[in-house]
Amino acid sequence: MTTHSSNSYSIDPQAAHKFYINGQWVSPVIPASLSVVNPANEAVVAQVALGSAEDVDRAVAAARAAFAGWSTSSVASRARVLGKIYELILERKEALAQALSLEMGAAISFSRTMQVPLAAEHVRVARDLLSSYRFQTVEDGTAIEREPIGVCGLITPWNWPLYQITAKVAPAIAAGCTVVLKPSELSPLSALLFAQLVHDAGLPPGVFNLVNGNGSEVGAAMAAHPDIDMISITGSNRAGALVAQAAAPTVKRVTQELGGKSPNLLLPDADFGKAVPLGVMSAFRNVGQSCSAPTRMIVPKSRLAEVESLAAATANAIIVGDPTSEDTVLGPIANAAQFNRVQAMIEVGLAEGAKLVCGGPGRVQGFEKGFYTRPTVFSEVDSAMRIAQEEIFGPVLCIIPYETLDEAIAIANDTVYGLGAHVQAQDLDLARAVASRIRAGQVHLNYPAWNPMAPFGGYKRSGNGREYGVFGFEEYLETKAIIGLGALSEPPSRT
Ligand code: NAD
Repeated sequence: MTTHSSNSYSIDPQAAHKFYINGQWVSPVIPASLSVVNPANEAVVAQVALGSAEDVDRAVAAARAAFAGWSTSSVASRARVLGKIYELILERKEALAQALSLEMGAAISFSRTMQVPLAAEHVRVARDLLSSYRFQTVEDGTAIEREPIGVCGLITPWNWPLYQITAKVAPAIAAGCTVVLKPSELSPLSALLFAQLVHDAGLPPGVFNLVNGNGSEVGAAMAAHPDIDMISITGSNRAGALVAQAAAPTVKRVTQELGGKSPNLLLPDADFGKAVPLGVMSAFRNVGQSCSAPTRMIVPKSRLAEVESLAAATANAIIVGDPTSEDTVLGPIANAAQFNRVQAMIEVGLAEGAKLVCGGPGRVQGFEKGFYTRPTVFSEVDSAMRIAQEEIFGPVLCIIPYETLDEAIAIANDTVYGLGAHVQAQDLDLARAVASRIRAGQVHLNYPAWNPMAPFGGYKRSGNGREYGVFGFEEYLETKAIIGLGALSEPPSRT
């Protein structure tokens, strides 16, 4: 129902009014729709069907019916379909990139080089690990079997829409689970293209189902559903907690990838000329709308003036503008609610007495419409300030000074979050020792390349569970021990 070509974005308006359930495009049980707004100009660009609990029931029934066949399908056949999905993402990469830029404002160059290729990587990784993963092992006469957990409800956010979808869908279906996906209601277009692509890849009906809708209705119905075995949500702490509460009576597995306020600790021996500009660009990547963005730069007090000047020069040089322009580095913030929240937090920083190094409130000059936000750097930030404690989810960096290493580490750990962290240093032994003392799921030393195999997830209130690679894959598996096999030492093969 969706149409595509290698160089244009297009969704059949009829398909946008439908959900993908049991291998078919179907109308919502109760007719309703929601508007998709282009954050670059605030124009409505599409109407998409809005689901209800009844649509969730239909999708879950389809996923449940498909589970028996898919969970016992051969690993090789699952790898083949994942390989086809991977190929189709690459083949349709331009259409996907255009949809992403339209629905959430990512600069087109960023959609092309990051949002789409990294999303494809999750599919490739899931395909590849099937060739070596051991679903059955035997030790001391006990067989350990890893089996798909069942029907999975997957709830995703708007900031990396396709990437978050593939990070969940690919390992789930690789594991032999069947899924119901609810993408963010604010970015449903790339998800519709993804559903079409999954269909074209030949995934059997019912293995993948998509229902669009609000969190409070469709998401909540999924979390509470008695026939869903596991819920995986990426989103705010508010939604993550609500999902866990709604899921509790049915004792389903809940994994949560939630907020962050990641520290970037510059040790005195770091190369500041590189570490500061790269730190600013990392914090502002995707317009600061990344849960693991390193938004707290923790620097030696004696180097504060130097850091401020390097940070200002970097931030002031960033081209913020129309996401369709090839030169644009940062497009607008993805939606009105997020824009208003970021503006309010910039005002909070000023009211708290932080030193404004560059940027500030208001739209980028020259724009009267669109959620264009000025890259903003605050310095002399105290760790107790709200701007240092709360996730802002926009291009706002806090520079926090320290005097001793112990103080720096204490500041790094001084939020309710524990998702990502960065350490910059030339002495790698010291950087490694500092990394061990940071309470976070990932610590990056000197801005390494992205590793899709490295487990990703949060300590503390940043979430529960891990995504990516083998760790992410195993979230979708149950563990069974078969005890009393006696001398049987080799498990039956299951390929
Ligand atoms: P959000 O919580 O508003 O929405 C996320 C998803 O949850 C959406 O699909 C939404 O419809 C759904 N949802 C909302 N309320 C729900 C409810 N009561 N029951 C079930 N589902 C519900 O978050 P957002 O604004 O889309 O995304 C931004 C947030 O996501 C930020 O806080 C960010 O840090 C977090 N995030 C975390 C990660 C991570 O991997 N840790 C990645 C990206 C974003």
